[in-house]
Amino acid sequence: MIDLKKLQKEIYNNKVRQKFNLKDVDEEICRIAEELGEFSQAYHRKWPNMAEELADVIITAFGLAEMMKLDLGNEVLKKVEKNKKRKYKKVNGVPIRISED
Ligand SMILES: [Mg+2]
Repeated sequence: MIDLKKLQKEIYNNKVRQKFNLKDVDEEICRIAEELGEFSQAYHRKWPNMAEELADVIITAFGLAEMMKLDLGNEVLKKVEKNKKRKYKKVNGVPIRISED
């Protein structure tokens, strides 16, 4: 299995090496939104780089997490398990969560 903590560090180390932003959290939040926009554009135009643009969203999020000393990989794993336990029912075709956690 991939070591997400190591991946997060590698992404951050590349930011250091490239002299990218390492301090401004708001700038990174904007970058994530920008990368999401690039993914949306690639998707709607059926560009072949669609997966790469989605990867940019994740890479930027991991870089931000390392800046903020957050263990994003662990949070993703925990949230996946949490999501699996949630229960939903459809109301007018829309899934509504019916369990607390
Ligand atoms: Mg991009």
